[in-house]
Amino acid sequence: MSVPFVVVSDFDGTITQHDMVVALTCQVNADNRALVDRINRRELDLKTGLSALFETLPSEDRSAYETFLAEAATFRSGYHQFQRVLSDAHIPFYIVSNGLDFMLDAVLGPKTEHGPERISNHARFDTEHIAIDWDYPCQPPCPGGCGLCKHKVVSELRDRHHAPVVFIGDGVTDVNGARLADRVFARSHLAQYLEESDTAYTPFDTFDDVLAALFQSTEVHA
Ligand SMILES: [Mg+2]
Ligand SMILES: [Zn+2]
Repeated sequence: MSVPFVVVSDFDGTITQHDMVVALTCQVNADNRALVDRINRRELDLKTGLSALFETLPSEDRSAYETFLAEAATFRSGYHQFQRVLSDAHIPFYIVSNGLDFMLDAVLGPKTEHGPERISNHARFDTEHIAIDWDYPCQPPCPGGCGLCKHKVVSELRDRHHAPVVFIGDGVTDVNGARLADRVFARSHLAQYLEESDTAYTPFDTFDDVLAALFQSTEVHA
């Protein structure tokens, strides 16, 4: 079945109002704030930075982390409606996160048949502190250092669906994916980075904004 486009959205700070990786790791250990600042200034690559953050979280407290995430996360306005419209229109929707799978599951709940696909790193709790399996490593021409390579994911999804990729994001984890995508909705740090590198994007605040922009410019037949 041919589709007009595929939607890829970041999770932390995009679907959720706040970055839950930052919220969780700094809640457990306030010293992590300095590490987060270094990641945002791009002094540390993401893979190195994320490993360092999660290495400070004892595995045995997993259920406390899940409770914290479920209670602390708030959704960006319009998200649930956005997801329903895409599902009704049979438009493929992927949540692509450089966070960890157990975090998405804690916030979003169990995966449903019509809900978005989830692509993220895999958390392991079989060592004293949380370890990360990186299932989507960088491949050329991505400049590298992604952790989870959104560049690779965008490229694969465009090939799989033979359709343009719409990318939605807010931060440093999104830069390599956004540069490759066919259309970008950006806010916060991502908007600044794209501005600095002269990459075209549409600013957004809520998912209602994204929905209106997408369906105004594209004929979609459900
Ligand atoms: Mg983000
Ligand atoms: Zn990459």
